[in-house]
Amino acid sequence: MTAAIVTDQLVKRYGSHEVLRRIDLEVLPGQVVCVIGPSGSGKSTLLRCINHLEQPDDGTVSVDGEVIGVTHRRGRTVPLGAAELRRQRAEIGMVFQSFNLFPHMTVLHNLVLAPMKVRGQSRAEAERRARVLLGQVGLADYAGAYPVQLSGGQQQRVAIARTLAMEPKVLLFDEPTSALDPELVGEVLDVMRKLAHAGKTMIVVTHELGFAREVADRVIFMDEGLIVEDGPADQVLSNPREKRTAAFLSKVL
Ligand code: ADP
Ligand code: MG
Repeated sequence: MTAAIVTDQLVKRYGSHEVLRRIDLEVLPGQVVCVIGPSGSGKSTLLRCINHLEQPDDGTVSVDGEVIGVTHRRGRTVPLGAAELRRQRAEIGMVFQSFNLFPHMTVLHNLVLAPMKVRGQSRAEAERRARVLLGQVGLADYAGAYPVQLSGGQQQRVAIARTLAMEPKVLLFDEPTSALDPELVGEVLDVMRKLAHAGKTMIVVTHELGFAREVADRVIFMDEGLIVEDGPADQVLSNPREKRTAAFLSKVL
């Protein structure tokens, strides 16, 4: 079976600060991996390197067997052209803490834009799919609304639907509920739980340990740019092998 996501000796530096220190990670198709760890440990940088929002300084990322962002020409590694990179990145969906919806566009317009531009879908086809997705995230009646008219939880559900509209091969979530009022967290986690059960491949950076325990196949604990621990959710969260994991959990529980 081809892994859905592989990072091989992934390194990212900012100046002399090595933020990712040779990360080896393999996520199988349909797996849900939750990533936990203290602020500054490199969780966001890992996701941003996987979808090439940041360019790794060393090592590689592969999605569905294809190396992201670079190619080989006459024995040398060279960056991919913009169009090729766009094609690859369309397969890697990312949901951010801050929703990032286009504020001047309706919900429906937010959902159809990329499928029409990048996937070449007709407006009619893109709108039909968008309405199906809005139904799936419980927002069938909001196609004509503007983001500002929605609660944070609703906006994040639109952002998830917008990501799904591109039919990406993998989904990356960077603290998708951290900006939400507590009473709105559940509705977003419900949508993510459904995606997990539908067999999507997901990496989720989160502080929601209840969600991780219930939904994740694996939990990874990161600290100082390293994967310190990686195992079944119950084992890592209830019975961590590493002192640093236990210390982190005792602070956040
Ligand atoms: P986390 O998501 O786990 O909180 P990040 O991946 O955001 O951690 O950051 C890891 C480290 O990299 C932090 O020390 C942060 O300050 C640093 N960092 C992140 N982005 C940049 C950047 N664009 N320039 C310089 N340093 C950065
Ligand atoms: Mg982060």
